[in-house]
Amino acid sequence: MTKNTLLELAKENAQNKQIEIIAKLENRPLEFIKSQLTKGEIVIMTRSNKPPLGIGTGLTTKINANIGTSSDCVHPKEEIEKAEIAEKYGADTISDLSMGGNIDQIRHEILKVTNSPLTTVPIYQAVAEKGAFKDVKLDDILGIIQKQINQGISSVVIHAGFTKKMLEELRDVGRIMGMVSKGGALTAAWMIEHETENPMLENFDEILGLLYDHDVVLSLGNTMRSGCIHDITDGPQVGEVKLNKKLAMRANKLGVQVIVEGMGGHVQPAEIPGFVKHYKKVTGNRPLFVAGPLPIDVAVGYDHIAASVGGAMASGAGADYLCYITPAEHLNLPNINQVREGVVAFKIAAHIGDAIKYGPSERDRDLAEYRHKQDWDAQFSLALDGDRARELHPIDQKICTMCGRYCALRIMENYLKGENK
Ligand code: SF4
Repeated sequence: MTKNTLLELAKENAQNKQIEIIAKLENRPLEFIKSQLTKGEIVIMTRSNKPPLGIGTGLTTKINANIGTSSDCVHPKEEIEKAEIAEKYGADTISDLSMGGNIDQIRHEILKVTNSPLTTVPIYQAVAEKGAFKDVKLDDILGIIQKQINQGISSVVIHAGFTKKMLEELRDVGRIMGMVSKGGALTAAWMIEHETENPMLENFDEILGLLYDHDVVLSLGNTMRSGCIHDITDGPQVGEVKLNKKLAMRANKLGVQVIVEGMGGHVQPAEIPGFVKHYKKVTGNRPLFVAGPLPIDVAVGYDHIAASVGGAMASGAGADYLCYITPAEHLNLPNINQVREGVVAFKIAAHIGDAIKYGPSERDRDLAEYRHKQDWDAQFSLALDGDRARELHPIDQKICTMCGRYCALRIMENYLKGENK
């Protein structure tokens, strides 16, 4: 039970180890971190006895990997291995979206093998355990939020930013893809079954109370996001971002840290930078979490590549936190290797985004110097996926065989050093 959340401690200018760690990790002044926390422009996710993680305006871009069983694919061991692989290849956070098998046990195992902050979407477990929307009671949802918090999660996603009226409007806007947010669709189905307003919205303060007690970060879900690039901005989308802004302000006022999900899933590429800037402005610069976004719809089987291009553009324009997409997106629950591919694609996106936001990194410079010297080990140690580089360049191979003895670097080396004059 916390007496003060990190947001409140920052406001009081109190000394706090977690805040100090973030300042060090992000290489930013302590006062900057406190000021951003106070304004709600960054959040710090924590887990008992694990390193904290900062996300938001002025910090490096972070990435999230979704894992977890589905109703039709229940292989707990594989999901736990996916969590380890995601963390190994650089996921900053992991979301356990399990909806099949012994969900509590799966989460317990994931927490055991990882150090990263863990996020859940409580409505998933509520629906999975009851089996039918009509059987889920409000107390079931609140009970699951509390149970997940007690297990030690760092953040929860709640789809509170849409109303019954927005749902009705959605019928008439003429989208191709309708609603593509699973958490949003589960919440909406519950509302339709019970013929009621959004329970997350109506009981928002009660949910905030549960989160406050353990300083769990609230992520406001993006129910009305577009599911294809031809589904352009419409009333429900605009309505949700405005309501999410109000909810974010309310949460911050009560001491709860907030991330706003927005802008994703599928957005025409020319619109991405403008959309990101608009979302940041509307939400008062709160940490912006974006799924993808996918800038085209035809990269089926390669959606991790398409989405990483969209993610790099979004991050460069100011998005703070990217949710990875794997090659299996829209096709299957990803396997372990596809989780790795998705994570690395999004590490690349985040790194490009940060190069746009903050300029090229020392790491890029150092790698170039090692590449020029053909110091393979040093080069691979700086690569975003050094294992992949090693797979492509066998250990006993001294040169790069692309041009072999006609390597441009070697041919021109002496001349450029001035030794052939
Ligand atoms: S110039 Fe050719 S051989 Fe030399 S490092 Fe580049 S690709 Fe490889």
